[in-house]
Amino acid sequence: MDYFDRANNAFMKAYGRFDVTFDHGNGVYLYDTNGKKYLDFYSGIGVNSFGYDYQLYTDAMCQQMHRLMHISNYFNSVETIEAAEAVIKATQLDQVFFTNSGTEATEGALKLARKYYYEKHGKADSEIISLNHSFHGRSTGAVTLTGTPAYQTAFGPLITGVKYGDINDLDSVAKLITPRTAAIILEPVQGEGGIHVCTQEFMKGIRQLCDKHEIVMILDEVQCGMGRTGTIMTYFQYGIMPDIVCLAKGIGAGFPMGAFVANKKIGDALKPGDHGSTYGGNPMAGKACKTVFKILEETQMLDHVQDVSEYLITKLDELVEKYDFIKERRGLGLMLGLEFDHPVKPYIQKALDKGLVLITAGTNVIRMLPPFIIEEKDVDEMISIFTEVIDEINS
Ligand SMILES: *Cc1c(COP(=O)(O)O)cnc(C)c1O
Repeated sequence: MDYFDRANNAFMKAYGRFDVTFDHGNGVYLYDTNGKKYLDFYSGIGVNSFGYDYQLYTDAMCQQMHRLMHISNYFNSVETIEAAEAVIKATQLDQVFFTNSGTEATEGALKLARKYYYEKHGKADSEIISLNHSFHGRSTGAVTLTGTPAYQTAFGPLITGVKYGDINDLDSVAKLITPRTAAIILEPVQGEGGIHVCTQEFMKGIRQLCDKHEIVMILDEVQCGMGRTGTIMTYFQYGIMPDIVCLAKGIGAGFPMGAFVANKKIGDALKPGDHGSTYGGNPMAGKACKTVFKILEETQMLDHVQDVSEYLITKLDELVEKYDFIKERRGLGLMLGLEFDHPVKPYIQKALDKGLVLITAGTNVIRMLPPFIIEEKDVDEMISIFTEVIDEINS
């Protein structure tokens, strides 16, 4: 039996996996068990910001593994304290709770917003507003926040009191507000939902609604945060501050980690015993997170992200010009999507055959989340393979 069959036998069928088994990676390239080389424009869903075996990161993690891996959150470790301080500096918020994943970050943010409401009103009857086509994770709470019925229907009953507005339609959100609304949660750039970017007007409008009605504003930057859109947090491009931000994916750059981060007023609502996690932010995760910030700063990598993004955007826009079935290019920084007028799955498969890793975001959108370290020559290589893929499928 080959690896593909063994995987199909051993795992639950929750994923539609491709018939590729990776062995190792180096820089922007992955290598499968047959030694075939792949250019990675996927980064394990926007996680591996520094590609593979980035020396500063690998060395830091190996060192930490020898020192201390895990102690629980009833004790402190220097690594995790320094990671939290780096997160606070980067987000300009006040308090951090470390988790192991994005789902746990949004779930925690939801619980924090509900607790804040409970302290204020003395009742546990809060409502939450989310957006259609959003994605916030897979636990029962997070999947309820995820405004995409396909992820929800079979798993009811969901949590109660969640309503859905539409991205870039402020009225659709405003009309859902009641005196019981505790929080509004949204992604500045919807990732899984198809790379839809919030307009300036919409984002600022949400902030104003939250201020006016004393609602907690939660931004889910699990995918778009940590430098992916060219600034450390995407909300800095909107000139607003959330009350809570959710982070994961790039925060550990390969080591499983997440966080929800709040201003003091909201964060203070959590009291000892209210929430917890055995692993969340253990010394290994702390080291990963701290090292991510260190690398971003020391190498001024976000300047590079902005520069190479400009080049990639120019090249993608040329594809939109060239092929009338490519409707639009959307996104910010190195979180970009191309919307086709037909399903894109065959393109992903053919790209893989030719040694290029891409993903979808919904049925008709090709999503690109390359590692931050890509250079213009890597963009050129991607465009050359991808153009071949497009031409072969449409010949
Ligand atoms: C990936 C993602 C999540 C869930 O993160 P996991 O680590 O898979 O639990 C939540 N929100 C957004 C915006 C995401 O992209």
